[in-house]
Amino acid sequence: MRQQLSFKLQTLPSTGRQWCLEIPSAVFEDGQLGDVAAPSRLCKDVFWKGNVISEGRMFTLQGTWGVELVRQCVRCNVEFPLLMEGECKRYFQLGHSMSESDDSDTCECLTAPGLISLVDVLREEVWLAWKPMVVCSESCKGLCQQCGENLNKHECKCSQDGDDHPFAALRHLRFDT
Ligand SMILES: [Zn+2]
Ligand SMILES: [Zn+2]
Repeated sequence: MRQQLSFKLQTLPSTGRQWCLEIPSAVFEDGQLGDVAAPSRLCKDVFWKGNVISEGRMFTLQGTWGVELVRQCVRCNVEFPLLMEGECKRYFQLGHSMSESDDSDTCECLTAPGLISLVDVLREEVWLAWKPMVVCSESCKGLCQQCGENLNKHECKCSQDGDDHPFAALRHLRFDT
């Protein structure tokens, strides 16, 4: 498995390389593997379907990925499985860039043999797509600001107070947006 998860640009076959893989969550979360910090609490294996092709000294890695992990809703605090999916498109070059120009923004220059770890690339993709604040559902009602009841599960008594309560307006404020 681990050999499938890295490749060298220098020895890439002219036909490139294709993958359609489920990377075991234990491998993806393994802190001993790779240089990029691993996201934790994966619910299942990581999906990756993609390819790398070479055009002269340029290499293009592209594909789609999917990760499902446990997150906590910022409104109701309940943990739920969040599916993250994305498209990955990365450009690499072996050796130093010929020009000092703008392609250094989009293209990563690697020294030979140009070892690339798919796990690190996909972890970076996950962090780039990471949302710090997530909700279990767009219609999540959150917690009652007064009694802390999860309003998705129960109606609490507080909402039966009259709206003439001095802080009644606060009830309708949302603090997470
Ligand atoms: Zn929620
Ligand atoms: Zn309440």
